[in-house]
Amino acid sequence: MRIAVVGTGYVGLVTGACLAEFGMFVTCVDIDKEKIEMLNNGKIPIYEPGLDVIVEKNRKAGRLKFTTDLAEAVRNNLVIFIAVGTPPKEDGSADLTYVENVARDIAKNMNGYKVVVNKSTVPVWTGQRVKKIIKDIVGDKFRFDVVSNPEFLREGAAVNDFMRPDRIVIGAESDEAVAIMKDIYSAHYLGEAPFVVTNIETAEMIKYASNAFLALKITFINEIANLCDLVGADVHKVAKAMGMDGRISPKFLHPGPGYGGSCFPKDTLALCHIAKEYGYNINVVEAAIEANEKQKLLMVDKIMSLLNRKKEKGALEGFVITILGLSFKPNTDDMRESPSIVIIKELLKYGAKIKAYDPIAMENAKKIFGENIEYCQDEYSAVENSDCLVIVTEWNQFRKLDMERIKKLMKSHNLADLRNIYEPKKMRDLGFNYTCVGRTKI
Ligand code: NAD
Repeated sequence: MRIAVVGTGYVGLVTGACLAEFGMFVTCVDIDKEKIEMLNNGKIPIYEPGLDVIVEKNRKAGRLKFTTDLAEAVRNNLVIFIAVGTPPKEDGSADLTYVENVARDIAKNMNGYKVVVNKSTVPVWTGQRVKKIIKDIVGDKFRFDVVSNPEFLREGAAVNDFMRPDRIVIGAESDEAVAIMKDIYSAHYLGEAPFVVTNIETAEMIKYASNAFLALKITFINEIANLCDLVGADVHKVAKAMGMDGRISPKFLHPGPGYGGSCFPKDTLALCHIAKEYGYNINVVEAAIEANEKQKLLMVDKIMSLLNRKKEKGALEGFVITILGLSFKPNTDDMRESPSIVIIKELLKYGAKIKAYDPIAMENAKKIFGENIEYCQDEYSAVENSDCLVIVTEWNQFRKLDMERIKKLMKSHNLADLRNIYEPKKMRDLGFNYTCVGRTKI
């Protein structure tokens, strides 16, 4: 099986490397010359646990190639995955420029039957658009199939998720394409991963429905946590008991500063946009988007009230605030839509001096915050002379900090634990003025 993957980002690189790991010959294509050069020199442009090992192993074994030459990749391979970005446009709809450009380039270089697989998250009917773009160029000269095969991997656990998927969705219009896709994923099939075979439009909808539902679930527990703070309940116990109900499940019931990342924010917006195009308002998702924006700002309110400050111009002048964790979640360097961005920008607006540390995302953070914040070497240098420690991302190494040492290093002892990784009572007993999300009054 010979495969090309166009777009060598978080999804494309993981897909390419994992398929090569299963013994297939994979060519990863990207327009970013620097990225391809890095990969050809044995460097990985993103942080994803375990990815470096399989990329290197398969590259050395000759099963994984990196190139900017899309034409050759199309000519030499039967199956071409499209894994380019689909970022949000101003109006919230998905920008399909990259997908359409790739479809055009594939069509121009076809030399026989090809299966064009959309792995990018795309609005319903994109598969048909891709089909039309290709058909308009190749006419009846070559047969081809377009398949929707959405990706459900989570950054930070992407390799494992790709290797052991809960389900493999194949949206296709021909038995031949389904058979080829099943063949590609046969290594998973031995592990009994269930296939869901459907039409293209249903496969496209499955991806948006899944991401929107997870975003709703996070938002729901955030709203419950906010209410717990008001009424004096403990959201951890609430979530635990809720999760014991088989109909609910305990996953995605962890309150925090709001969801971020490259998927949930843009995919919820895109789903609402798709609905509107059909004259429908998907109210529950619209409400989640609004509540999630509110959640990030609520974290700033928490920090302000911890410091006994009113939200007014210059309110944080003279205050040093430490941010631990910048990426949108642990085990990734991805800063896209991270709650840390909104929180830090708001704190800067009120005049705070920010000292920040993240185990992996510092380089990406520099591209966002520039010289406006101070980047620290580690957790302990970050809290030196600080008035407030804010934990934004729950990296494992932040879970067991030496809090006595932290206390000694800080100027004043304010702790905003936005991921609830510490016990409120223990922190208060240690002398911290403590706040968290949904356990503030316990
Ligand atoms: P990314 O931005 O990390 O990578 C996209 C890559 O495509 C970039 O390297 C870019 O240079 C390349 N590219 C753009 N135009 C190209 C072209 N014409 N030819 C070759 N390469 C080109 O994006 P990502 O996070 O990997 O996401 C890709 C898609 O997968 C998106 O639709 C996203 O919604 C979806 N998705 C992402 C995740 C995730 O966790 N990141 C999970 C599931 C699905």
